[in-house]
Amino acid sequence: MKHALFGDIHGNSDALTAVLSDIQSRHSDNIYCLGDIVGYGAEPRECLGRIRDLACPTVAGNHDIAGAANVPLDDFNEYARKAIYWTRQQLTDEDRAWLSELPFVIHYEVFSMVHSSLSHPEAFPYILSDADADRCFARMETPLCFIAHSHVPLAFFDAVPGRPAGHQVDFTDPMAVRGKMIVNPGSVGQPRDGAPQAAYCIYDDTTQHITFRRVEYDVAEAARKVRAAGLPELLAWRLEIGR
Ligand code: ZN
Repeated sequence: MKHALFGDIHGNSDALTAVLSDIQSRHSDNIYCLGDIVGYGAEPRECLGRIRDLACPTVAGNHDIAGAANVPLDDFNEYARKAIYWTRQQLTDEDRAWLSELPFVIHYEVFSMVHSSLSHPEAFPYILSDADADRCFARMETPLCFIAHSHVPLAFFDAVPGRPAGHQVDFTDPMAVRGKMIVNPGSVGQPRDGAPQAAYCIYDDTTQHITFRRVEYDVAEAARKVRAAGLPELLAWRLEIGR
C-alpha cells in the first residue's frame, strides 16, 4: 500500500490543492496530515475544510494549537505571532474545537506520526541534528516515524555503525527504508529549503521505499493572497524564495 504524508500547509490552499492532485495522480491508498494546517498563510479556513473533508488521520502542530486557543505565544517570532492573531480571527468556534481535539501522536504498526518529535510532542522541539533525532529514536517503537515542523525535507537513520547520519533527501530517486528512520517530507505551504515548490512524500510499504515529491503551484497567487490579507510582507516574500 502507498501512504501519502504531508504537513506544514500553513493556510496555503494553492499549494494544498496542487499536492492533493499530485497524490491522486500517484494512486496513493491513504493520506495523512502531519500538522500545522493553519498559521502564516491567507486561507486557513479553506485548508482546514479540505483536511476535514478528507477525514485523514491528522496530528496537531504548534500553529494549530496556537490558532485554536488563547495559549501564550512566547515561542513564536514576531511574524508568526501576527499571523496567529490574524488566524484566530478567521477561525470559527467549530474550527477551533476541531483543531483543539487533534492528537499529538498517532501510532500504527509500521510507523508513527508526530508534528515535532516523540521526545516531547507537546513542547514541539525541532529535529535538525543527529542529536535531536537520537532523542526521538529513544522513544520510537515503530521502524518509521514521520515528522514535520522544520519545513526542511530530511531523513535520519538510527545511529548504527555503517549507517549514514541525517541527510538531505533526494527528489529524483526513491529512498530505501533501512532500519529505524525519522522522515520529514518538508512543507506543503511554506518550504524553507530554498525551493518554493510544495513538498510531501509517499511511503510504499510493499517496496519499502519513500518517494519525496516536489510539486509546482501558483506561488505568486499564494503570495498575493498573503499581501491582500494584510499579513506581514515577509510571509509573502518567503513563499517566493522558499526560505
Ligand atoms: Zn510549521
